[in-house]
Amino acid sequence: MAIVAQTEKLIPLVGWGRVLAGALRSADELLQAVELTVADFPEGLSIAQQFPVLVPQPFVELMRKGDPCDPLLLQVLPLAAEEQMHPDFSIDPLGEQDTNVATGVIHKYHGRVLLLAASGCAVNCRYCFRRHFPYSDNRLGRTQWQAALDYIAQDASISEVILSGGDPLMLQDERLAELVTAIAQIPHVQRLRVHSRLPVVIAERLTEQLTDILTRTRLRSTLVLHVNHPRELTPMHAERLGKLRQAGVTLLNQTVLLKGVNDSAQVLIELSETLFDHHLLPYYLHVLDRVQGAQHFDVSSTEAYALYQQMLAQLPGYLVPKLVREEAGQPHKTPLHAF
Ligand SMILES: *Cc1c(COP(=O)(O)O)cnc(C)c1O
Ligand code: SF4
Repeated sequence: MAIVAQTEKLIPLVGWGRVLAGALRSADELLQAVELTVADFPEGLSIAQQFPVLVPQPFVELMRKGDPCDPLLLQVLPLAAEEQMHPDFSIDPLGEQDTNVATGVIHKYHGRVLLLAASGCAVNCRYCFRRHFPYSDNRLGRTQWQAALDYIAQDASISEVILSGGDPLMLQDERLAELVTAIAQIPHVQRLRVHSRLPVVIAERLTEQLTDILTRTRLRSTLVLHVNHPRELTPMHAERLGKLRQAGVTLLNQTVLLKGVNDSAQVLIELSETLFDHHLLPYYLHVLDRVQGAQHFDVSSTEAYALYQQMLAQLPGYLVPKLVREEAGQPHKTPLHAF
């Protein structure tokens, strides 16, 4: 809740900030908006509060009313299943807390670092592997930016900076511009990548100023969105992403494979085609990180690989994402293709 309160203070109530401020913040509000009641969920809802409900209105509007199995709803509704414990699902499945080399910096892979540019998100996804990450220790205030930038500057092997979070597009454009300018001053950094789900749930976040920030820099910019289901994309996304692409930003997508949301060949194939219609190329299809509270979204590796093979059989190669798993201690994401 602290993050939400802070967000309201920092982001002006116009444009996307206004949409964000109007986000739904409880399961009750959410159920009411989609014309359902707790009785529609036989196993009940989770009442644990450490990862609160947060869903912007535009995302709610895309949900089917009266459908307890709606794939958009299931991504944000806290089901009682979240409270089950499972020995294979941990609080820090990726061992990130060990690769947190400086405040707000995760350096795990050769040549690229993650900069945790903002602590909050515009939507709280129930499957999120960061739901237990100590954000509050890693909030990059202006003073900590310098230490993070110094870390990048002293390691000439770093050629790409990936803005991550939380969600880096929670930063206002002015602050994002300052950060990008500072990164561009480090000579060995060539590429800038922004990983964000925010524009998926609030398309207004794709501002003209954002396009300027990503293109008026010597860095080559890539925006990676996180779309999980074809129904998440709208004509406003197509229009605004079209402008970003015309301006020269590389646009990719990553998806998490989620039981009950997108674990069918038909949905995944439609997703790839819809992404392409919205100027996005599929990059990664991630199997779920085994984080406590997300067990009910797990799809087995065998099933995942079978789905991947159906995509291969039916899509052009450029619309087939790489099927990967994140493994603690590995120097890259691990392809599942090998077995
Ligand atoms: C996914 C990820 C990256 C980027 O990996 P790519 O394969 O280049 O997309 C970098 N650092 C961490 C910690 C990651 O999880
Ligand atoms: S937007 Fe991304 S980081 Fe934020 S809760 Fe959702 S999956 Fe997690």
